Amino acid sequence: MRIRVNRVHYPVVVLGYGRRAGLWVQGCGIGCAGCVARDTWAADPATEVEVGAVVDWLRRLPSDVDGVTISGGEPFDQPDALLALLRALHAWRAGTGRPVDLLGYSGRSLTALRARFAPHLELLDAVVPGPYVAAEAPGGMWRGSANQDLVPLTALGHERYDADVDRPAGPTRMQLGTDGERVYHIGIPAPGDLEALEAALARRGLVYGEVSWRS
Ligand code: SF4
Repeated sequence: MRIRVNRVHYPVVVLGYGRRAGLWVQGCGIGCAGCVARDTWAADPATEVEVGAVVDWLRRLPSDVDGVTISGGEPFDQPDALLALLRALHAWRAGTGRPVDLLGYSGRSLTALRARFAPHLELLDAVVPGPYVAAEAPGGMWRGSANQDLVPLTALGHERYDADVDRPAGPTRMQLGTDGERVYHIGIPAPGDLEALEAALARRGLVYGEVSWRS
């Protein structure tokens, strides 16, 4: 089974509990106004990789991985591939010898997810459902806008996320990564964060060539 992937990153420390593997899928048909990940929208078949290749990458990570965050892009736009991925993640984490939670994001409502994607939800420990609504930003801990809930789904999910359900976003919301050519943001900026970062870089003589967070 193949899945479109925009990027993988480790460690991610701003999208869920602990030090995490981050998996951003490619393709989103929802199109929230103000989305900071517009580069993930196109369902580009050239980004397809085997689910097994994702698991191989996870196997090569340091042994301290606490969880996997699946975002994008809209993971549920690839339902068959997502299900195959989640099953493969369960098999992989069973061999890690440590609790590894699976946290998924979706622009669909929880009602829609429960109606159409119940088998997927059964394989996640927690989910953040709902579109990003710029007028309701910032959201709570690990979320972009206040309409988005954080929904623990399993015992591990409750253990790690119950305390965050009503918690406001903390001061550490973003981290930066680079692939050698481009710099990318990880996490969910609060309103004004990206503009402030751009202004700070400009004062140092660094100017963005193109950005994925401005339409
Ligand atoms: S915020 Fe998420 S669901 Fe909304 S357009 Fe961006 S990638 Fe898609």
